[in-house]
Order: sequence, then C-alpha cells, then structure tokens
Amino acid sequence: MQYTEIMVRYGELSTKGKNQRDFVNRLGGNIRKSLHAFPKLEVHPKRDRTHVTLNGEDSNAVIERLKQVFGIQNFSPSLKVDRTLEGIHAGVLKMMQEQLKPGMTFKINTRRSDHHFEMDTNELNEELGGFVLDHFPEASVKMRQPDLILRVEVRSNGVFLSSETIQGAGGLPVGTAGKGMMMLSGGIDSPVASYLGMKRGVDMEMVHFFSPPYTSEQALAKAKELTSRLAAFGGSLQFIQVPFAKIQEEIKEKVPEGYLMTVQRRMMLRLTVALAKKRGGKAIFNGESLGQVASQTMESMEAINDVTNMPILRPVISLDKTEIIKQAKEIGTYDLSILPFEDCCTIFAPPAPKTRPDTERARYYEKRIDVEGLMKEALDGVTISEIKPGENYLNQNQDVFAELL
Ligand code: ATP
Ligand code: MG
Repeated sequence: MQYTEIMVRYGELSTKGKNQRDFVNRLGGNIRKSLHAFPKLEVHPKRDRTHVTLNGEDSNAVIERLKQVFGIQNFSPSLKVDRTLEGIHAGVLKMMQEQLKPGMTFKINTRRSDHHFEMDTNELNEELGGFVLDHFPEASVKMRQPDLILRVEVRSNGVFLSSETIQGAGGLPVGTAGKGMMMLSGGIDSPVASYLGMKRGVDMEMVHFFSPPYTSEQALAKAKELTSRLAAFGGSLQFIQVPFAKIQEEIKEKVPEGYLMTVQRRMMLRLTVALAKKRGGKAIFNGESLGQVASQTMESMEAINDVTNMPILRPVISLDKTEIIKQAKEIGTYDLSILPFEDCCTIFAPPAPKTRPDTERARYYEKRIDVEGLMKEALDGVTISEIKPGENYLNQNQDVFAELL
C-alpha cells in the first residue's frame, strides 16, 4: 500500500528534559540525510513526534531506510484523507481491504487534536466500527488485544489513518553524544563496536591504518565498504586513512619481537589521539574484547593505554565471539568482514606476542624509535573522505566473492 505520511515516535528522547529540542532537531537532520535519495519528501520534527510527508515517494523503500535510523522508537505509516466522513470512509475501506483478513478481530481507536470535527471520538469509533462490519461481515470487534487496531487521528490539516507500528532501531540520534574516533580494522569486531557506539549517539569518525605495499588496495576498499554499511545508521561517516607501513618497518627493525605488537598498538593509539585532538573527538573507540587474543588481556590494554589519558571505550569488551558474530550478521557487516584480505596487523604480527607485556619495558623499547618524527610523517600522509550509505569500493564485488568460493 502506498502511504502518504509516516509518523515517527521517539523513545528515550522524550525523557531528556532541556536537551530535548537538540535531540529532536538532530534526529530530524539525520532522517533527512538518511532519506536523501527521496528528494520530494519532507521531514517535520515536532516536540513529541516527527512527521515525514512522502509527497509521492515510495513508502516501502522509505520504511526500510527509517528502520535503521538511531533515535526512533517506532513509527507508523499513515494515509491522509479528507476531513469529511466520506473521505474517512474511503480511506478506511482501502486500508481494511488490504489488511483485514477473514476472521480477524479489530478495533477503531480515534484521537482528536482538532475538536471542531463534527463527531467526537466515541461517535467516530462507533460509526467507523459499524462501517467496517457492514463491509467485512466476517470480521468482529474486540476491545482487548484485537488482531488489528485502526488508528484514526483527526488533526486540523486532515485525518490520518494507520494500523501498523513498526519497530525502530532505538538508541539515541547519532551526533547527540558528541564526536568519537573509531579504530576500524577490516575485522568482525570493530564494525560491531562502531554500531554500538553510534547507537548511543556518538558521531563516529573512522580511523583506519593501512600499510601499502604490505596490504592490498582491496584491504583498504574493504574498510571503506564496511564504513558505507555503517553509514546507514546515521547518514554519512568520515573515513580517515593513516599510512602505517613506515612505522611498522621501524618497529620491526628496532624492537624485540615480544614487544612488536604492544609498541605498534601504542603508536596506533597515539596517532588516533592526535587526530581526535585535531578534530574535536572526545573519546577513542575500538573493537577489543577481553581475552580474545594476546593484545586484549588487561595487562596488554594497560601497556597500550599508557600513551594517553583520553577515554578508550570498548563497546564489545564483554561479548563472546559468537555474540559479536551474531550482531555483525544482523547489521550486515559480517559477509564483508570475513573476506580474507591481509590487515596491517596480521602482516607484522609476531609469532608469539607477549600476553602480559610490561608497561615499563614497552616504554623502554619504544625509545629506540623516533616517535615524534614517525607520527608527524604519518599524520602528514592522512587522507580523509566522506562515505555515504550504499557506496561500493570493492571493485567488481561479484568477482571478489566468486574468487573466494
Ligand atoms: P577486529 O575484528 O575489530 O579487527 P580483532 O579481534 O581482529 O578485532 P585486533 O586485530 O587485535 O583484534 O585489533 C583490536 C582492535 O584494534 C580492533 O578492534 C580495532 O579497533 C583496532 N585495530 C586493529 N587493526 C586496525 C587497523 N588496521 N586500523 C584501525 N584500527 C585497528
Ligand atoms: Mg583485526
């Protein structure tokens, strides 16, 4: 059915007191960005709801997009009809023909914000209930838990009919929590961590370390494509690529094998902090999960974390790998994450990294490299691009998958 309007309801938003207006406006902006492919529609944010007027845009396609936008509790597609009994009858008939199956129970639920209408809510409930029964003799009215509730809302600009409530993505509108820097690899965990941070309102910027010629163009393309998938939850994302090969070569040459990984991670973190400071980021996010691999023990986190006092948030810290995989499948990043393009860390990974590195030793070995100089060079080589939902970076996507089968 082609609807004319979608009524969007907020969840947690409504409880945020004086920040409410910012939240509502931000959500309105995010909805507009997410629906940029539908130029005719209009988004009208109000204190308690947002109305999306479709103006002929395909309601099914819009509904699919809206399901991903954080900050929406649920929404109801509705049909706008004339503010006359005949108008309402015609709309009710159209909706019920599509949705009321033989033997189903229903109820009419009228709300009036416009009290000038000729009938009050009770009269309308009764009138329309009778009208439906006349046309669908096999249906029956049920007040408690009917199969279908037809909501009739009388407003001054028209009457709106709706019968479906579609679950939204929940969370808070992206941007309401401020900016965070996400350390995005091409793995399974960091995209899920990005999703969870965005769900709590963080405006993420993706920081990706790549190491040509040791890592391929495809590895970089994979990280960008993952970013494009994640952009669906907010509107668009900044992607910051940082060249890392030179640093890795230096470390490999000068640092003992047991500390290669720790010192590499310390450099990655320092660079991410530098980018955060430059760009107004308030925290660093990563995809670490406690105990998953050598770099993710508490001792290791301590030795890496030593380079900064900026908060490092780890949304998947206590999730099992199976739980992370399940989430990755749900948000649509898993199929990309498992493409086996070498990551910069896999290539320089020592065969036996220390699972309990010592912070003092990490500091000591690190003195052998020119931390400041290497950082400056890497930061000078940074490239930043804006990535939107639905973009493709892996060339001939199909072929890449075919090759792997
Ligand atoms: P993931 O699946 O997210 O890659 P992982 O289990 O493979 O995680 P590691 O590769 O040890 O774990 O990385 C831990 C975290 O460090 C990642 O979740 C990510 O936040 C960050 N990280 C690793 N490699 C990169 C990279 N090339 N660019 C940016 N961040 C990275
Ligand atoms: Mg990884």
